[in-house]
Amino acid sequence: DRQKHIRNFSIVAHIDHGKSTLADRILEMTHSVAQRQMKAQILDDMPLERERGITIKMNSVEVHYDAKDGQRYIFHLIDTPGHVDFSYEVSRALAAADGALLVVDATQGVQAQTLANVYLAIDNDLEILPVINKIDLPSADPKGTKAEIEDDIGIDTSDAADVSAKTGLGVADLLEKIVKIIPAPTGDLNAPLQALIFDSKYDSYRGVVLSIRVKEGQIHLGDKIRLMNAGADYEVTELGVFSPDATPRKELIAGDVGYLTASIKDIHIARSGDTVTNADRPAQKALQGYRPMTPMVYAGIYPTDNGKYNELRDALDKLSLNDASLEYEPETSTALGFGFRVGFLGLLHMDVVQERLEREFDLEIVITAPTVTYHVIKTDGSEEDISNPSDIPDASSIKEIREPFVNATIMVPEQYVGTVMELAQAKRGIFDTMDYLDKSRVNVKYKMPLSEIIFDFFDKIKSSTKGYASLDYSLAGFFVSDLKKIDILLNGDKVDALSFISHKDFADNRARVVTGKLKKVIPRQNFEIPIQAAIGSKIIARTNIKAYRKDVTVKIHTGDPDRRAKLLDKQRAGKARMKSIGRVDVPQEAFMAILKNS
Ligand code: GDP
Ligand code: MG
Repeated sequence: DRQKHIRNFSIVAHIDHGKSTLADRILEMTHSVAQRQMKAQILDDMPLERERGITIKMNSVEVHYDAKDGQRYIFHLIDTPGHVDFSYEVSRALAAADGALLVVDATQGVQAQTLANVYLAIDNDLEILPVINKIDLPSADPKGTKAEIEDDIGIDTSDAADVSAKTGLGVADLLEKIVKIIPAPTGDLNAPLQALIFDSKYDSYRGVVLSIRVKEGQIHLGDKIRLMNAGADYEVTELGVFSPDATPRKELIAGDVGYLTASIKDIHIARSGDTVTNADRPAQKALQGYRPMTPMVYAGIYPTDNGKYNELRDALDKLSLNDASLEYEPETSTALGFGFRVGFLGLLHMDVVQERLEREFDLEIVITAPTVTYHVIKTDGSEEDISNPSDIPDASSIKEIREPFVNATIMVPEQYVGTVMELAQAKRGIFDTMDYLDKSRVNVKYKMPLSEIIFDFFDKIKSSTKGYASLDYSLAGFFVSDLKKIDILLNGDKVDALSFISHKDFADNRARVVTGKLKKVIPRQNFEIPIQAAIGSKIIARTNIKAYRKDVTVKIHTGDPDRRAKLLDKQRAGKARMKSIGRVDVPQEAFMAILKNS
């Protein structure tokens, strides 16, 4: 029967090890895409993914494979992102699969996210099939890579496939191994329906489109379904699989991965992690959902035009369907007006959310500097979690401030250990342990303030180790630090959206750097603008933006018409991302000035 011929698997790996390229080859060798439509990383269909060359969203696709045993198999493969900021996508994808292809670049070996992602797969009880990739490259070391997989992860590599996802070498063998090693789904076709919602998105015509993995029973077009946690009933209006385009089906059975629509217009109802059952014959209980994500960083998001608040809320609602790790709540700022405090998993995630809001929802927004959550204990004994620096109360009422620390694991070749330790120490890291993974690679562990890690630690580590270091981290807890709130005053007025937190030892320097940077990015106006940084009422840094005298428009009129149009366009574009604060026009870069350390 059909179920025995289904193979559900996810592709996981460290970033750039070749997941999406391997998905391309599998699609190609199973004739799932017409040759003329084939392009590199075809499943990365978001413009943002194509521009940046990274996978942001998971993508599921059904392909048919005619195996050497003469049987036709149905593969549901799910490509996943590799970057740590999108690990929630990976964990949700894994809950829909029965196995995982663990792709490891044979020129790089096991990296930090290889480990992080394989542990997610092990947690989900998936059968893991190691795939040694990029064997076409002269520096590839498949044997050494397998030894690392055995030593670092402890999984058997005797079934591993050696491939080049780029040339297709070895991929035919891999397809056979998938049939043999990834288990067919189990699940009773006659049991009451249980289908896990592992992703969703909003479509203005069809309502919410749910990605589902049917665990038990069957689902048919026209069935009356119930979302168990939401407690709402609907009728299935469309059912199908992605192959890779949406392809309608009349039914999906236990083991299938596909999508459904049911004219669900209320976006708050259809959440990832909920269970779909049959309303006439409901399952006893819902499937285990997902643990909610804890955001690592927060930032304020405001429309540049105050009248667009409702549109921004709508956009966040819709985006959060497709990005289950996004959290937000309304906030107001005296400087910026009405907006939202939004939680992200990291700075790349923040960047992606900002771009998606602007592109997919046609909004113009400003985003304030990211910050971690601080745990403030006041002298009166009360405690508070604060994710907006401007909400930190007066120093006189604070007993202590605790900040989040992470356990950071840095995997690095031996010769860079010294460099990495220096960098970690400069970022207030507390040395934990150091283990040799093998003769030449070392796992260095530090406890570090999350705030230091998210800003530029990773970039610094990468650039000072020629890209050889990889980093992974997880929250360790909140610990007391000597932290100061620094306020910024523009033209004498405190701008709440520019307040930031700094460790006492770095406060003076940060204040100088930030005021200097603000001076550079805030355009001159026809009056002088003092910029000050203060701790409480004490000014610790100051500078001035001089008033302009020359008429800048003169320049425009002297240029040729083309140049003039360009300049005007540029001015308009610049204006879009400006926010008027008091009498001062503040551009987007100003809010990010706070991230600058030098
Ligand atoms: P992902 O981040 O794991 O999805 O990695 P991608 O599939 O986007 O690949 C990252 C880069 O590695 C791209 O430039 C690919 O062309 C390249 N790449 C992937 N597989 C191979 C391979 O087998 N050989 C070579 N030489 N390059 C590869
Ligand atoms: Mg990818």
